[in-house]
Amino acid sequence: MERRSFLKKAGFGLAAATAAMPALAQNAPTVKWRLASSFPKSLDTIYGGAEVMARRVAEATGGKFQIQVFASGEIVPGPGVHDAVKDATVEMGHTCSYYFFGKNPTYAFDTAVPFGLNNRQTDAWMRHGNGSKLMGEFFAKSNIVAIPCGNTGVQMGGWYRKEIKSVADLKGLKMRIAGLAGKVLSKLGAVPQQIPGSDIYPALEKGTIDAAEWVGPYDDQKLGFNKVAKYYYYPGWWEGGPQISVYINSKKWAELPKEYQAILEIACADAHVDMMAKYDAKNPTALKQLHASGTLLRPFPKDVMEACYKAAQEVYSEISAENADFKKVYDDYKKFMDDQNLWFRVAEGSYSNFMYSKR
Ligand code: CA
Repeated sequence: MERRSFLKKAGFGLAAATAAMPALAQNAPTVKWRLASSFPKSLDTIYGGAEVMARRVAEATGGKFQIQVFASGEIVPGPGVHDAVKDATVEMGHTCSYYFFGKNPTYAFDTAVPFGLNNRQTDAWMRHGNGSKLMGEFFAKSNIVAIPCGNTGVQMGGWYRKEIKSVADLKGLKMRIAGLAGKVLSKLGAVPQQIPGSDIYPALEKGTIDAAEWVGPYDDQKLGFNKVAKYYYYPGWWEGGPQISVYINSKKWAELPKEYQAILEIACADAHVDMMAKYDAKNPTALKQLHASGTLLRPFPKDVMEACYKAAQEVYSEISAENADFKKVYDDYKKFMDDQNLWFRVAEGSYSNFMYSKR
């Protein structure tokens, strides 16, 4: 909407914009695709990303290319999105690749890995590093074309019924956390639990689990975790900038006209920026409301962060030793990240630290 009003003000009416594309509109085929999302409709941020993308595609093709978005469980269960796209049960999906860690931990690089890249650095790796190329080769083995379509930014470290004062407090901690992060925490004695989003609240309320992580203030508040756990820790070191991806069956992708492929890529890029912007705009209010409701914010102690970092490096060495796909991507990712952090600590980091201290 804002972009449109800008275009109008700048002297480009919508009529002028549409007049430039009658060739596409007249000759373009009608395409109707189904998209299976791994997310529930209640999470307007992350589920909404697919709707933003689909709307942009329809707008840019004069309604000729329609993508219908289905929430998790409507036509495909959330964890089934990978296989549904691979097997062309649906043309498209919208998901987090690290959900498929069990198939191959290499998937995690398409979303986030513990102590990994932040959202901007992930974009840099994907677009101007080797990210797209390496992950594209990996996804091709499953007949999937993956396109970035959203990011949550750094997540929170989750909700805890008791304080985490030292590494010793992780011993025996039953925590809802998945994938690589679960592997890292289990090295320090924690007991990771895989629980779907909808089941976290009752498990935390009953004390079946001691802690749970989800996303950040805006999404977490919706799920009501502040009512069943008092301590809200930060940062979520396992998700420094988790990327959400659109999956497209590679055969269906190849069948699309080149113009539709380009429009779909542009729509994903627009939804990608929009999701991050929405989280950044919504999280401060939610954080203030959580604080006002009695939530106690706590940073993870330095020794906990250091121990988790060390354990993560061990996990990377172990997986690299037995998984060639993982090693190939990790070696490139790690090298890219070292340079990113060298650069980010100079201007970005010092500017951010100064500005945040003025608040
Ligand atoms: Ca999370």
